[in-house]
Amino acid sequence: MDATVPDLPDLAPPANEAPCAAADLAISGMTCAACASRIEKVLNRLPRVSATVNFATERAHVVFDPATIGPERLIEAVRKAGYDARVPAAAPAEDAAAAAASRADMRQFLIAAILTAPLLAHMIPMLLERHEWMLPNWLQLALATPVQFWVGARFYAGAWHSLRGGGANMDVLIALGTSAAWAYSAAVTLMGSSGHVYFEASAAIITLVLLGKLLESRARRRASTAIRELIKLQPAQARIERDDALMEVPVAAIRPGDVFIVRAGDSVPVDGEVIEGASSIDESMLTGESRAVAKRLGARVFAGSVNADGRLRCRATAVGADTALAAIVRLVEQAQGSKAPIQRLADRISAVFVPAVLVFAVLTATGWLMAGAGFATALVNAVAVLVIACPCALGLATPTAIMVGTGRGARAGVLVKNAAALELAGRIDWLALDKTGTLTEGQPAVIEVVAAAGYSEHDVIAVAAALEQGSSHPIAQAIRREAQARGIPVAAIEDFQSHAGAGVQARLNGKLGRLGSAEFLASNGIALDQAPSERAAARTLVAAALDADPLGWIALSDRLRASTPAAIARLRAMGVEVAMLTGDSEASAREAAHAAGIMTFVARMLPAAKAQEIERKRSSGHVVGMVGDGINDAPALAASDVSFAIGAGTDVAIQTADVTLMRSDLMALAEAIELSRATLRKVRQNLFFAFFYNTLGIPLAALGMLNPVVAGAAMAMSSVSVVSNSLLLRRWRGGSS
Ligand code: ADP
Ligand code: MG
Repeated sequence: MDATVPDLPDLAPPANEAPCAAADLAISGMTCAACASRIEKVLNRLPRVSATVNFATERAHVVFDPATIGPERLIEAVRKAGYDARVPAAAPAEDAAAAAASRADMRQFLIAAILTAPLLAHMIPMLLERHEWMLPNWLQLALATPVQFWVGARFYAGAWHSLRGGGANMDVLIALGTSAAWAYSAAVTLMGSSGHVYFEASAAIITLVLLGKLLESRARRRASTAIRELIKLQPAQARIERDDALMEVPVAAIRPGDVFIVRAGDSVPVDGEVIEGASSIDESMLTGESRAVAKRLGARVFAGSVNADGRLRCRATAVGADTALAAIVRLVEQAQGSKAPIQRLADRISAVFVPAVLVFAVLTATGWLMAGAGFATALVNAVAVLVIACPCALGLATPTAIMVGTGRGARAGVLVKNAAALELAGRIDWLALDKTGTLTEGQPAVIEVVAAAGYSEHDVIAVAAALEQGSSHPIAQAIRREAQARGIPVAAIEDFQSHAGAGVQARLNGKLGRLGSAEFLASNGIALDQAPSERAAARTLVAAALDADPLGWIALSDRLRASTPAAIARLRAMGVEVAMLTGDSEASAREAAHAAGIMTFVARMLPAAKAQEIERKRSSGHVVGMVGDGINDAPALAASDVSFAIGAGTDVAIQTADVTLMRSDLMALAEAIELSRATLRKVRQNLFFAFFYNTLGIPLAALGMLNPVVAGAAMAMSSVSVVSNSLLLRRWRGGSS
């Protein structure tokens, strides 16, 4: 036996080499993905710091060694780079601050629009050549100047910060382009010469870019608050029993151990355990499953779920940030802030894009001058190049889609731990499934007991139930239940050991008891000749022995989850090859595979062998997913590209897997893969869109075929359309995409 590990500790998170702390910082002042990579670089340059900055969520996730550095140093570093950072406040305060900022932006935009409108309107008489209707230059100067320096101050500030930090962002392009147009026009006006002025270009670009930012940040907020709205499902007030009286208190006042009452139609205020009453509860906000769940004495209830008909008395077990709902929201927010591998490409491109565009704008101006065009024409075309090339849509393409995709998943009961998993899940082409608890319900029942000569069924169950005391395996639970049902007392044991995927052993009345698969007993030199009955052969079989004496067999049967065959068919239709890897016997495995519609299966596999098989598939070029119930499957889950835990949120499973399926149903697995594909499709559309704008726009602008005002509008609209396209994912429905 190579694996001698107790049942659960093998799921513990990996030990860290150094003590480390993690913090999230709210970042402000970023205008594009180049800013995000710039801040990332600055933070990562600090000793023992690893940071990722997400442009879309405006958050930095920083892992650091608290012994060498504190959050103040991190914030200081961000400030030095020209941006602002702070420790984020509670969600409602953050929302209020964001709303106030957006109102201020809106006011500024309206003023800019009012000042710019006459300048744009003035282009009409200009095109019609009705010079007598045209605004005098000094009036244009008066209208354009506040737009340039008051409304446009943010671009100057952003450009200055970024240049001082040694980089160049889109603010540099906007500030430079509009300043050139404004300065040239101002010079013409002040010198009283007869040349054209381009105030409408500088003012319109600033106004349009500001509008784009407004729409974009509004859409981004919509995407990021979707998940936080879940928290609002908790009622504000709850009824608790205190000092023998029933009283209404704010939810925040409930402490673990308090007894609270949930009436029909009420939302559950905090996590708890039912101590009286029966009802059914709608838990769709946790699991995405709309059918109500029956709750009786001892059942767990979750904050935010909705009680249908009965009245429940419950004892609070977790409140505030400890509730399952709060944990989910935290998890999803973390995932939304993480970076998908595909985004690194966009980041790298936008970092070199701005300097390249600056060079190209200079070349454009030089080219036009050399071709004999006037200074004004050369300038205007260079400005158009600067403006159309702003790479902000590029920076939004990936994070917004990931943000919406993860949020959408959470609502369907698919919890994705990080963006990388969301990106990869859609590419899975080989999927390994565990049998017990994954394909089946994971609640086996003892259906037959066969005692060896000289022993009774009672003896077999008594020994087996005693040995299983130390195990949390579904088989162990079934055997303990059986002992209880037969009224068989359970003796004490010593030196318990669990052999993952094989069985258990312990000392019982001075003898060494073993219980497990036939292979497990055979490997310990125990020969089993008593064959189990025909009916039992296709079931899960475990054998019990005391020292070298076989006592007999226990046959268990576990029902296939009702949706399993349909889910397997759907996965196969999606082009995913499905294989079952199980530690159970050949006969039992064949039976289950057949019922589920799975062609490929391997039986009698130890956990390490499952992991090896997965490694082998990966090294032959497959993207491998592994689905398990979190018991005994940790090595295989860890070996796969994307791991899925199934089973309504056991805490261990949530911790280990990349994706947690809150619904105990393999359909959710197919949905998770489809959601990933839909998200990735959005990312690709967005990236194409962003590139398309920039690459098509630049040559047009350089050739003088793009008015700077149109360039400003196109630039603003490209960000808006990318974000809106991502938001479409919210309407995604499993199966129809
Ligand atoms: P699966 O691959 O179906 O999840 P496991 O790897 O958990 O199965 O276990 C494989 C086999 O090992 C079981 O079918 C059973 O024969 C034996 N086994 C594992 N754990 C136990 C246990 N606690 N008690 C008895 N038998 C066990
Ligand atoms: Mg298992």
